[in-house]
Amino acid sequence: MKTSPLRLGISRCLLGDEVRYDGGHKRDNFLTDVLGSFVKWVSVCPEVEAGLGIPREAMRLVGNPLDPRLVTIKSGTDHTRALETLTKDRIEELKKLDLSGYVFKKGSPSCGIERVRVYSKDGIPSRNGVGLFARAFIEQFPLIPVEEEGRLCDSTLRENFIERVFCYRRWQDLVQSGATRQSLVQFHTIHKYLLLAHHPQQYQVLGRLVGQAERHPQKELTLRYGNLFMKVLAVKATVRKHVNVLQHILGHFKERLGAQEKVELLSVIGDYHQGLTPLIVPLTLIKHYVQVFDVSYIRDQVYLNPHPKELMLRNHV
Ligand code: SF4
Repeated sequence: MKTSPLRLGISRCLLGDEVRYDGGHKRDNFLTDVLGSFVKWVSVCPEVEAGLGIPREAMRLVGNPLDPRLVTIKSGTDHTRALETLTKDRIEELKKLDLSGYVFKKGSPSCGIERVRVYSKDGIPSRNGVGLFARAFIEQFPLIPVEEEGRLCDSTLRENFIERVFCYRRWQDLVQSGATRQSLVQFHTIHKYLLLAHHPQQYQVLGRLVGQAERHPQKELTLRYGNLFMKVLAVKATVRKHVNVLQHILGHFKERLGAQEKVELLSVIGDYHQGLTPLIVPLTLIKHYVQVFDVSYIRDQVYLNPHPKELMLRNHV
């Protein structure tokens, strides 16, 4: 299944632009040099676009963590209104750009998506805030995958985020082409093993929803499926769940394997289970047999190729 080009939002300082309060940047080489070859970045620096200048006085979140103010540290200038006005306008623009994901700068009072420091009146910090721009973005686009650059250093989180980005793009394409019950069934079918690797129980719930599609009006069905689909993919796939999927896939052609081939494949899956090899090893062997035996149902599964192989994401999980 082909997808449209991917457009991802990004905190502008992560691209190497010198827009931080101190005139510096936080270029992230993986994002610029590796992922950047597969996506088109839409960069936003909320603080600069709100007219706060470069350099500018450092600021932080203050007050109620659910509704904090953005205040400069030394002079106590409150920039909340400027940030909120910019955010409202910028989000309207972003709605037209059909984003498939967003990478935010960790810890920023404007861009951080979790554990941002919020200071009490007495100056005591607690790490339970969300940056003002990031909060508004997530509220406006609850299905769009978001991550922070810091968390993308974790290979499991990185693989999960990029997988979700590609899945969300396919979902957007389906919705934009006018999803029907039939196209939804096809969509679900090719994502079955991927969903199983994330949440076996919810995978069944999605299957029932598609199986009883005629009971729901199309619009409601599409909405419910899309919400649950993205929620399921956000649950981490574990080694145990991957092993379960690999064994399911093996079930489709094991009768056609010779005794020696079967032993070899089970041994490779066992090595992965024990943490001796990454996921790419059993998957490569499985893909080989899927080609040799021409198992079309498995060949079409997104699970086998959820993102470009050049990203080498499954070499590290
Ligand atoms: S974290 Fe956000 S507001 Fe701060 S410099 Fe980067 S893009 Fe601009």
